[in-house]
Amino acid sequence: MERVLIIGSGPAGLTAALYAARAGLAPLVLEGLEPGGQLTTTTEVENYPGFPDGIDGTQLTMLMRQQAERFGARCEQKDVTGSDFSGRPLKVTLSDGSVVESQTVIIATGASALYLDLDSVQKLRGRGVTACATCDGAFYRGQDVAVLGGGDTAMEEALFLTRMCSKVTIIHRRDELRASKIMGERALAHEKIEVLWDSVIDEVLDVEKGEVTGLKIRNVKTGALSDLKVTGLFMGIGHKPNTDAFVGQLDLTDSGFVQTDSTRTSVEGVYAAGDVQDPLYKQAVTAAGTGCAAALEAERYLESLGQ
Ligand code: NDP
Repeated sequence: MERVLIIGSGPAGLTAALYAARAGLAPLVLEGLEPGGQLTTTTEVENYPGFPDGIDGTQLTMLMRQQAERFGARCEQKDVTGSDFSGRPLKVTLSDGSVVESQTVIIATGASALYLDLDSVQKLRGRGVTACATCDGAFYRGQDVAVLGGGDTAMEEALFLTRMCSKVTIIHRRDELRASKIMGERALAHEKIEVLWDSVIDEVLDVEKGEVTGLKIRNVKTGALSDLKVTGLFMGIGHKPNTDAFVGQLDLTDSGFVQTDSTRTSVEGVYAAGDVQDPLYKQAVTAAGTGCAAALEAERYLESLGQ
């Protein structure tokens, strides 16, 4: 049986692993299908303290992992599909059907990109509709693409795409960005970026052809319809917490985040850290901070059991 089982390998999970490992608890980290989490789909991380020139997201997670492993954390690329927190030990089911038992569990499964709820989006997902410019941008070299959303994710995606695309159109449903000032200004000032304000996508063309050839755009203020010719559509409309494996086992908020008091969940011995419990800040550094707190909580809990 494990003493500390950590689910997720972004900054929250890996920081929890570092602290639990240094406490001599040899934590097991189940990395999931996307080791490193969302940081690995971002480019340059400019706001993680200690890296004045910025650092590549994948490299940052690799360094965090190395640091945790140095003190005895074990990382395994396994995916969690279910859990049973009704008794002791705590149980977690993996996609291969096996069960891992542990005295404490730290949930750090993060969040996944949201896709627009349109039939044409679902049908063309992976065929021109994507949510990761870093992963897929290179396929659109020299082409015109669109990014949906007005937050930091959308700005970041759009700015990244300017490196290889001819033109990037940001489609935003309001007349004001939600993005931070610095990111918004950078995007708006870019010569390759244009913004369609007060606009939504009614349909992605062309489902029959099985590829993206354009978008049907509607101006929400005037009702005017127009077509935008693009070969790619990048989603930048936010994220959904990855809590499917824990439904019914602990309290979730109305929006599906794990409900926490500090990092404690509704089940003793189960903690949550990072984006899976944070609808507010969603930053790598806040995720790392809560990962640390969760590990300290788990350590104290084990101590209180006299173990
Ligand atoms: P946000 O929730 O901040 O923004 C989502 C955007 O998508 C909003 O502009 C929203 O519009 C729009 N939107 C949501 N649903 C729809 C829909 N159905 N149709 C059309 N538009 C929609 O999410 P982000 O992922 O951008 O950012 C999340 C957090 O991560 C933030 O705290 C952000 O600061 C942070 N972040 C930081 C980065 C950095 O610092 N480098 C990079 C990326 C993210 P509306 O504005 O009208 O609500």
